[in-house]
Amino acid sequence: MTDVLIVVAHPDDAEIAMGMRLRDHTLTGDHVRVHCLSPGASTAEEADQRRSECRAAGALLGVAEYSFSQIPDNEFVERRVEINRELFRVFSKRRPDIVYTHFPDDQHLDHRITADEATTVALREAEALYYFRSPYSHGFEPTLYFIGTPDLLAAKQAALACFHSQQQLDMSVFSGLTELAYRQHLHHRVVERFPDGAHGAEMFRTARQVVHATRPRVSRPGDATPASGAAARPLRGPGHLPAEPGHDPPPHTLSHSCRRASP
Ligand SMILES: [Zn+2]
Repeated sequence: MTDVLIVVAHPDDAEIAMGMRLRDHTLTGDHVRVHCLSPGASTAEEADQRRSECRAAGALLGVAEYSFSQIPDNEFVERRVEINRELFRVFSKRRPDIVYTHFPDDQHLDHRITADEATTVALREAEALYYFRSPYSHGFEPTLYFIGTPDLLAAKQAALACFHSQQQLDMSVFSGLTELAYRQHLHHRVVERFPDGAHGAEMFRTARQVVHATRPRVSRPGDATPASGAAARPLRGPGHLPAEPGHDPPPHTLSHSCRRASP
């Protein structure tokens, strides 16, 4: 099972930026945790409401665990050491294979600090690190496009609707961005090749990705072709790694570009 950890500054950051990608991970059988550094509220009552909104959205998307630190909004700079300590604690609780977090160049200072500190810990503890694009990312040039489906977009919209306290943000705008924003980055000839039913996209930058060698085939007497050398088995790109046994992706999803090869 692949362990996925999403580190965000505020409640709803994960669902806005990568609700479809998150749901695709859980449908594939991955264990997904979301850790939110801020309670996103100034009173205990509001914090309770935001936590329950997160858990409702997480339940719809299949999140295994939604956890929280208590770093107040707009105090991330002063609490940097505490954030670093908290993240080491979160990573040591269950070591992630794949980490997602904010893009370091962001218009929101809390997002910047989260990205910096999550990067510091993830580069020591995880094989793969991706930055998601959010509406506040600045100068974001994607390297990975996750192309959705109508089902995944509907799941994201349902998750966003759980954030009742944030409806002043008009969550329909965020799902609209998911449907359209990626097209400005891709030539129309590339977009034309997307499968029928592709619906929206979420964008990421790869900070680290490790690709394991495919296990060489053992040669047997009587084999028609030699099993050693480059011709025996073509090299596969990172988007064509073999699926893990028992974890074939559902037919509506694209192949998982960052899955570890079978050991
Ligand atoms: Zn945020």
